Amino acid sequence: MASRVYMASDDLVRKVPEMVDRMDVAFRGKVAVKVHMGELGNVTHVRPVFVRRVVDKIKELGGEPFVIDTPAIYKGDRDTAGKYLKTAAVNGFTKESMGAEVVIDDTETLINGVGISKKIMDSDALFVVSHGKGHGMSGFGGAIKNVGMGCPSKNGKAVIHGVNKPTVLDCCIGCGDCAENCAVNAISIKNGRAVIDYELCAGCGGCMGCEQDAIHVSREKKEELQRVLARVTKSVLENFENVAYLNFLLDITKHCDCFGCYMESIAPNIGVIGSKDIVAIDKASIDLIGKHANLGEIHGVNPEVQIEEAVKIGLGSRDYELNRL
Ligand code: SF4
Ligand code: SF4
Repeated sequence: MASRVYMASDDLVRKVPEMVDRMDVAFRGKVAVKVHMGELGNVTHVRPVFVRRVVDKIKELGGEPFVIDTPAIYKGDRDTAGKYLKTAAVNGFTKESMGAEVVIDDTETLINGVGISKKIMDSDALFVVSHGKGHGMSGFGGAIKNVGMGCPSKNGKAVIHGVNKPTVLDCCIGCGDCAENCAVNAISIKNGRAVIDYELCAGCGGCMGCEQDAIHVSREKKEELQRVLARVTKSVLENFENVAYLNFLLDITKHCDCFGCYMESIAPNIGVIGSKDIVAIDKASIDLIGKHANLGEIHGVNPEVQIEEAVKIGLGSRDYELNRL
């Protein structure tokens, strides 16, 4: 059966709460609003005003929302809870702007061998706010990526990223930039070329910004990462009866919001879509972006692998009907 996906392309600040109403989810008790608040210097993450509208609507419906994310695994301005809180404030996410607590959780609950944010898992309901865009490892990053990689703790992320450790190609010129970006000092320069110590490497992708494109992750590894993301997503979602998703298809960039720089869009602004089905919303996002940009070609991996795996393990339906607001 086709799942319902709501879509708005204009008047978004007004239509976001209307969309939440239409999804008709019972938000009671503590509601974790999961948002990637952007790396320092990133300007294409979900805009705070939209998250505030979600927070206000959840309160109106009787829930107690708080805005939450987990520290990043790679080296940067979000790799500890303290640094991430400061970055979130610069990017516009504060208690005052959100009208709710902003929490960066570095505690974990172990689920199926993967550490997941304890504060998310201890919540009564989950609202997943995602930025739909390209992603170097999974081709597309949306709700599945936001839950499957965004809800795990740093330890959990290390377990997941373990499937996509990179290799160094012959075009490496030994400049050392990647070594400087590696949080665990897994890269050294030997004989004019980067060498990765796989005992230390956590597969975080922090070295992927190589200007020579010499850091490489194979298509097979990227596909496996997508399957793992879907499975971890299932572990998280099994904890909740009430979950809703919004994907913002605005400022659709080639890379994710972990990139702390300005990035040009690869597609025009499309709007926001919402659903109670995580598979339907990501499939609809891929289809809508796919009218303007070939995500599979851009990152050398088919982003639909995560959709196929999610359908296979019963997370939702790839069939959807778009309802315009
Ligand atoms: S892999 Fe890239 S960033 Fe690292 S040393 Fe080689 S050229 Fe420099
Ligand atoms: S070598 Fe491994 S741990 Fe270091 S930045 Fe690259 S992927 Fe991350």
